Amino acid sequence: MTDPDCIFCKIVGGQIPSNIVLRNDQVTAFRDINPQLPTHVLVVPNQHIADTEALEPEHDPIVGAVIRAARDIAQQEGLSARGYRLVFNTGRDANNTVPHLHVHVLGGRAMTWPPG
Ligand code: 5GP
Ligand code: ZN
Repeated sequence: MTDPDCIFCKIVGGQIPSNIVLRNDQVTAFRDINPQLPTHVLVVPNQHIADTEALEPEHDPIVGAVIRAARDIAQQEGLSARGYRLVFNTGRDANNTVPHLHVHVLGGRAMTWPPG
């Protein structure tokens, strides 16, 4: 359930400090250390799941909790009316760097599409 070498497991466990914006039994959300937009928050499951490739049916409640928490953070940050983007990066082509499932909550200014 916890990977001792995982940065985000250490953030969930409090061994690495972070700027936490929301926390409950299932998920922890904290500000990205290298924000790409005015709001850039990461929502992670409290249990270690590597990425979307590792998801099983038993994880469905956790995935729902991650996405609803992302929505709550967007509301909290005042993004709901103007819009926001939720991003899961998986694998090399997407530049996934931390192998603990997370969704980026991005917003605060108009974004371009498609991504580069
Ligand atoms: P990925 O590319 O894997 O989807 O994104 C990982 C994100 O985690 C990056 O945006 C990066 O800035 C962020 N990150 C990496 N290490 C830390 C850390 O120790 N603390 C925080 N708050 N964010 C981190
Ligand atoms: Zn982890």
